[in-house]
Amino acid sequence: MRPAAAPPPRFKRDVARALADATLKTAIDRTTVTAERKRAAALADYPQFAAARERGTRIKDHVIANLDRYLEEFERNATASGARVHWAADAEEACAIVLGICRAAGARRVTRSKSMLGEEIGLPHALEAAGIERVETDLAEHIIQLAGETPSHIIWPALHKTREQISALFKAAHRDPHKTEDAEAMVESARRELRERFLTAEVGISGANFLIADSGAVCTVTNEGNAELTTTPPRVHIATAGIEKLVPSLAHAFVLLRLLVRSATGADITQYTTFHCGPRRPGDRDGPEEFHIVLVDNGRSRMLRDAGGLRQMLRCIRCGACMNHCVVYRQIGGHAYGATYPGPMGAVLTPALEGEEKARDLPHACTLNGRCQEVCPVSIPLPTLLRGWRDRSWKEGLVPQGFRSGLGLWRFAAERPWLYRLGTAAGVRAMRLFGRRGWIARMPLAGSWTRYRDLPAPAGRTFMEQFRAGERAGGDGVRR
Ligand code: SF4
Repeated sequence: MRPAAAPPPRFKRDVARALADATLKTAIDRTTVTAERKRAAALADYPQFAAARERGTRIKDHVIANLDRYLEEFERNATASGARVHWAADAEEACAIVLGICRAAGARRVTRSKSMLGEEIGLPHALEAAGIERVETDLAEHIIQLAGETPSHIIWPALHKTREQISALFKAAHRDPHKTEDAEAMVESARRELRERFLTAEVGISGANFLIADSGAVCTVTNEGNAELTTTPPRVHIATAGIEKLVPSLAHAFVLLRLLVRSATGADITQYTTFHCGPRRPGDRDGPEEFHIVLVDNGRSRMLRDAGGLRQMLRCIRCGACMNHCVVYRQIGGHAYGATYPGPMGAVLTPALEGEEKARDLPHACTLNGRCQEVCPVSIPLPTLLRGWRDRSWKEGLVPQGFRSGLGLWRFAAERPWLYRLGTAAGVRAMRLFGRRGWIARMPLAGSWTRYRDLPAPAGRTFMEQFRAGERAGGDGVRR
């Protein structure tokens, strides 16, 4: 076993910073509370949700179990439709392929519609490093680009920004900014700013929500229509997609689309659901002359082979419901996770994609209340997978020595009931000493808990003391 490494300071520092930011908390609450309410209303209007969830889970499991076959089928059909399919083993190779296509197209400007895979492989940075102007066309991604930040949520990348902050960004960067402070005027300002760039980009880069194996089509879903404007006017369209995005057919995609949209935004359907199938054909009025699809592995095959059940994470359809309902995410937001994917799904995915050592704090940023699994439209057992990561980091010696020693002490006492009883009785009495009006605001050794919240002071005697008193009084020890 390796010696326990010191915890990386960044996560704890970023969490402390996020917790101290009242504006951030207001911004997170505004979006996540609304998302929670809308999702509940959408499910109430869709009684078939439970059946669709079961079906969606089965579809994803079937595809994952037959991934090699469906990948080959997709490649065959996409190629037959005129697309060019590229395979990337990792992030570096994926970026190199995209840059190669951009260079061959003589691209000086590319437009990009929102893609978490693009963030995962570091494409924004790679484009800039190659001297290619990158124009983010999703409204929230446009805000993030102006702020020089990264997304803090997989559905609402700028969830952490308030309207006032966005207004200031637009006024500083837009050539003809809004004159009034209403949302409509701000959206109009972004539209004016982006319109000309949509039309002058040489390459448009999109992600993919689903890859349809039996037609070779790529499905994208947006509410702003920016994916359509990103992929249609430029001469070249590049779609980047994780290999787990496959579904056998259009009918299967629709099952997952119903789950995705209701879980993500609480709507019945998104404003734009587009199926891109091959480049422009003779007689087509528009569309790209070249259509490239980059299929990215980047750790997914490893997850597929994982004996600890991580392959279940490949079911994820990136709806964001788990983070909207996560008590930790709702306190600290997305940036504190320090990874592309935040929240419960990110805490499972990041160690798999970036390595355990780098992400070892994330599986511990969870209360294991199970809410994420409850709302996940493809039934991913997130708490179980998080416990799996905790178990691995324990076995691999990545847990800090102080925590190991504390748990060792607890175990020593738990194996000796007399000592355990003595310890809990002493602990209860000590905690009562620190209580004021029934609450503990500060307590030595529990500072990381009481620094941010109160703790109820224990009342009266321990359960065991009450139980024994009940027995002595002639009852069965249970107070009714
Ligand atoms: S883990 Fe489930 S709830 Fe979370 S983003 Fe993925 S599909 Fe949605």
